[in-house]
Amino acid sequence: ALDADTSASPLALVRDDLRDFGGYRSARSDKLQGEVWLNANESPWPNLADRDGSLRRYPDPQPQALREALAALYDCAPAQVLVGRGSDEGIDLLVRALCRPGGDAIVVNTPTFGMYAVSARLHGTRVIDVPLREADGEWRCDFDAIADAARTQAARIVFLCSPGNPTGALLPVGEIAALAARLEGRALVVVDEAYVEFADAPSATRLIGAHRNVAVLRTLSKAHALASARIGTVIADAALIEVLRRCQAPYPLPSACADEALRALGRDAALQTRTRIATVRAERDALAARLATAPGVRRVYASRANFVLVRFDDAQSAFDRLLAAGVVVRDMRAAPGLGDALRISLGTPEQNAAVLSILEARA
Ligand code: PMP
Repeated sequence: ALDADTSASPLALVRDDLRDFGGYRSARSDKLQGEVWLNANESPWPNLADRDGSLRRYPDPQPQALREALAALYDCAPAQVLVGRGSDEGIDLLVRALCRPGGDAIVVNTPTFGMYAVSARLHGTRVIDVPLREADGEWRCDFDAIADAARTQAARIVFLCSPGNPTGALLPVGEIAALAARLEGRALVVVDEAYVEFADAPSATRLIGAHRNVAVLRTLSKAHALASARIGTVIADAALIEVLRRCQAPYPLPSACADEALRALGRDAALQTRTRIATVRAERDALAARLATAPGVRRVYASRANFVLVRFDDAQSAFDRLLAAGVVVRDMRAAPGLGDALRISLGTPEQNAAVLSILEARA
């Protein structure tokens, strides 16, 4: 049933005024053959610092080899892949392509990743919050309330984060599919899976065939250890990907970053990535278990990501003790609904041991 394509095209969700928008026609758009390239006002000579002479040319906007490697990694078709400057750019493109400024809205579930609301605000789009609910240390997403809010308040996009930042909680793919079915033809369900590699759980990409109003965000910044290369991927229905491509900046991917990413997806690097992921998972579970009994710790939330969210009696004191030892963690007290909480990313085993020994020492 998952493969039966009965759902409506997501093109219906694209802004009316952008449906036949051509975007900027870059010098790399025409697939022309030639020896001498005089169509982009580039320099005919390289810069002295340019090691192989390639930097003088504008880069390929969507290198096919990288698209294919990412499609293989994420188990989808190259035509379902848009590569951008981190998933941050994917979020921004989706908001701009689907939401009319001043009119439409997005739905978020706080506490969550801040960029959904930032992109919406910058674009003049309303943000509807359907907060996660916490009970006995578990974070629950209210899918009924999301569907109601999206339907009654003209939301074009629902942003789900799984595993959630900062909660670490995983959303069931079956619930996401049911939400997508309820919102078909009304809203795009975007599943931000920046941390899914650490979750050992199925990706929502498998839903896209049957639910064309699902899009998934993936990134090389976390598990693949390439945050500086800024390579994020939107995976969605091919027709929607084509619209996003036309909305994207002319040359979004510096060639050096695209080349590094391709190398990083090779066999040896991929094997090492798997080892790092396994280490992070084991370290996370061990750190969470130990922190749960540390003095001043109220709650350690079960995490499926590469960080743990910890609620303290006094987060300021824990933050200060870590900082005094040179360890910088994320203060979450300003996030809605979190109270005295810190988010601690997993480091190397030595770094995690240092965190533990600081927090286990009586203040
Ligand atoms: N989504 C989530 C949930 C994140 O936590 C982050 C990074 N903090 C991003 C997206 C952005 O990642 P990228 O480096 O791919 O832009």
